[in-house]
Amino acid sequence: MSTAILDAEKIPTQSLEIKTVIPADPKAVYQFRAQRLAELAEESGLAEYFGLLEQLVGAQQKVAALYGEAAKSCFGPKPKLDLSQSQPMAQQHFEWGNYWQSVLLELISELMPKVSTDLHVVLKELAKAEADVLQGYAKSMLSGRFAEVPAQYSLFIWAALSVYWSHWAVEVAQGLADAAQAHKRLCPVCGSHPVGSVIKEVPRTGLRYLHCSLCETEWHEVRAECTSCGESKGVFLWAETETKAAIRVESCDTCKGYTKMFFTDINPRLEVAADDLATLVMDSHLVEQGYSATTVNPLLLAHEQEPQLENEPQESVVQPKVGNIH
Ligand SMILES: [Zn+2]
Ligand SMILES: [Zn+2]
Repeated sequence: MSTAILDAEKIPTQSLEIKTVIPADPKAVYQFRAQRLAELAEESGLAEYFGLLEQLVGAQQKVAALYGEAAKSCFGPKPKLDLSQSQPMAQQHFEWGNYWQSVLLELISELMPKVSTDLHVVLKELAKAEADVLQGYAKSMLSGRFAEVPAQYSLFIWAALSVYWSHWAVEVAQGLADAAQAHKRLCPVCGSHPVGSVIKEVPRTGLRYLHCSLCETEWHEVRAECTSCGESKGVFLWAETETKAAIRVESCDTCKGYTKMFFTDINPRLEVAADDLATLVMDSHLVEQGYSATTVNPLLLAHEQEPQLENEPQESVVQPKVGNIH
C-alpha cells in the first residue's frame, strides 16, 4: 500500500536560473515512448492494448520524422501565431485549420496493415469521416469535452492533433524558453493539461518539469508547490516504497488534486505517458482517498467511459483519468 513519505514543504525551493520551457523533439519523444510501451507490455497485463499503443506511437514517430516536401504536404503552411500572448497555440488563439486531418490519414495508413480487423472498421470510418465532423471532434477534445467524441475515435484523433501541435510547438517553445515564468498549471505553449511531472537528471538533477498532453512541450515547476493550484501547504508525496521510489504521486489537500511524478534520475527508462498507464493502481489508491487526477493521459482516452467530474470548473474540464482499463 502507498504511504505518504514526505511533506513537500520540506523540499528546498530551487533557484530560478533554469530553463523554464523545454521544446519537444517530437520524433525522439515518440520513439522513446514506443520503446517503453513495448517494454511495459508484458508486465502491464494488457499486452494487446499496449501493443496497439506501440503501433500508434510508432506511426506518430514516422509522421513526425517527415521532412521536405512530404512534411509540407502533411503539415501544411506554418500557422500564424501571436507570440506576444500567453499560450499562443491554445486552440482559440490561432487558425489551426484542418491539416491535422492529413496527419490523421497518414497515421491511419501506417496503422491499417498492422492492427486487428475490429480496428480496421474504426479506422476506415475515421478515414471516410466528413472534414466538418472531424473538425467538430477536434474542437471538443481541445476544449476538454472528451465525452462528446465517440470513444473508439478519440485515441486516434488526439494522436493526430498531438503530432500536428508538437510539429509547430517546437519553435514557439524555443521562443518562450528564455522568458521568466510564474506558476503554470497548463502548458505555456498550447494551454493543455500535463500528463504528469518528470524529475530530470538534465539540465540539472532534481528539477521538475510538467509534460504536455498535446504538444509534448515540458515546462518547469518548482517541487514544493502543487502543480494544479500552486499551494505549498498540505502537499504530500506517496510511493509504494519509502526510499528511492522512481514513481511517486503528489497530492494536494487544498485542491484535492494529485499528479504523478516520474523520477528519471532514478530510472532513466521511465516515459511519462507509458509509465502513467502502467501504474493506474496508484491512481485507484489516491481516488479512494478522495483525490482527483489533475492530468490527462493521451493514451488512455479510448478507455474513458466515466462522466466528467461534477465539481470541475467548465474551462478546465478534465476526465477522471481512471477509466475501465483495470
Ligand atoms: Zn502543450
Ligand atoms: Zn493543489
